[in-house]
Amino acid sequence: MNLARLKGYSFELGPIRPPSEGNDHSLLLRATRNCPWNRCQFCNVYKGKRFGYRSVEEVKQDIDIVRALADEIKATSWRLGYGGRVNDEVVRAIVRGNPEIYGTDFADSEVLRARLGSLVNVAGWLSSGARTVFLQDADTLIMRTPELVEVTQYLKEAFPSTQRVTSYARAKTCAQRSVDELKELQQAGLSRLHVGLESGYDEVLQEMQKGVTQQEHIEGGRKVVQSGISLSEYVMPGLGGKRWSQRHALETAKALSQINPDYIRIRSLVVRRGSPLYDKLKQGEFHQLTEDEVIDEIGLLIENLDCNSYLVSDQMSNLLWEIEGKLPQDKPSLLKRIAEYKAMLPSERLLFTLKRRLGSYVAVYGRLDQGLNQKVEEAFEGIQKGLPEAEAKVDEAISALKDGFV
Ligand code: SF4
Repeated sequence: MNLARLKGYSFELGPIRPPSEGNDHSLLLRATRNCPWNRCQFCNVYKGKRFGYRSVEEVKQDIDIVRALADEIKATSWRLGYGGRVNDEVVRAIVRGNPEIYGTDFADSEVLRARLGSLVNVAGWLSSGARTVFLQDADTLIMRTPELVEVTQYLKEAFPSTQRVTSYARAKTCAQRSVDELKELQQAGLSRLHVGLESGYDEVLQEMQKGVTQQEHIEGGRKVVQSGISLSEYVMPGLGGKRWSQRHALETAKALSQINPDYIRIRSLVVRRGSPLYDKLKQGEFHQLTEDEVIDEIGLLIENLDCNSYLVSDQMSNLLWEIEGKLPQDKPSLLKRIAEYKAMLPSERLLFTLKRRLGSYVAVYGRLDQGLNQKVEEAFEGIQKGLPEAEAKVDEAISALKDGFV
């Protein structure tokens, strides 16, 4: 294998990327490690992990490793008669043919996992045309602008097929950059930023320790839009709990209408184990919305949006993932779908909700373990027999399913 000149056979991979980048099999490159803020109450992704910059040289070396892996994958494909196409057989042949790298001995399983993860990521990216790249982790824009420009240019030169380079950024960091800096990044090839707006309501932002105000959200978002970088804003229905549900929806709609991002992505709140909010929930300090109340909140948000964004619900946390369309023209059909859901009989709605949540879980994990399966079966039985405790059983089953949501 022609990677012998390199120290390792893997490049760094961070823990998450947006669902859209998964669908597109984006190449994942870690430009910084973890989150420089790391205080949001609902987030467990980087808790206990220290933020770190990576040097430009380190990131470039990862890009070199990707290139070497890509060359090896393509050469293997030709050798096996697939004419450069990448499939599972090609990946398997590389793994089997290089036991000294992908190993039969699992002495250091972490190293092995990293090598396999890197190989699979590059193979998936090549098989989808090597068009999209996602820079990890939580706030790539925090890099010094000339350094991020250098990394992006190096990446585009290394892989001329790249059509889209995207990353996460905090709104506060966007607000701290000048439009000229953002334009420079756009010209270097940074094409989209994913920003977690979560809420436009200052009380919620403060309670959740988001570290940003509505005004900073608007300022940061507008600068990105002005620079020509495509902007995805993530909103989190349910984050205000019962206390602030209405204001959360209305103020979020107000902020988004002023930003006018390219995409609004709905990511309904799932209170995750390991997040400070989970402890507050268990201690009775946070009162979660029901599934129906979250849908009402999404309806109120959509009603009050006055922008030209494309609204998407492409995350497993959402019950109605079909809520998707271009604003303002699709607003009536989005609200119609919500009205249809609300018009169901209570028992129909319970059944629908349980099936949806179960479907999302199975799509990721394939099947349920014994305990979870029992909960779900009891919930179905409760609905079918019209038992008085049916709703409680469904709630219990859904909470258990959501515990596994990613
Ligand atoms: S900024 Fe993002 S990654 Fe960091 S703690 Fe908040 S939600 Fe989590």
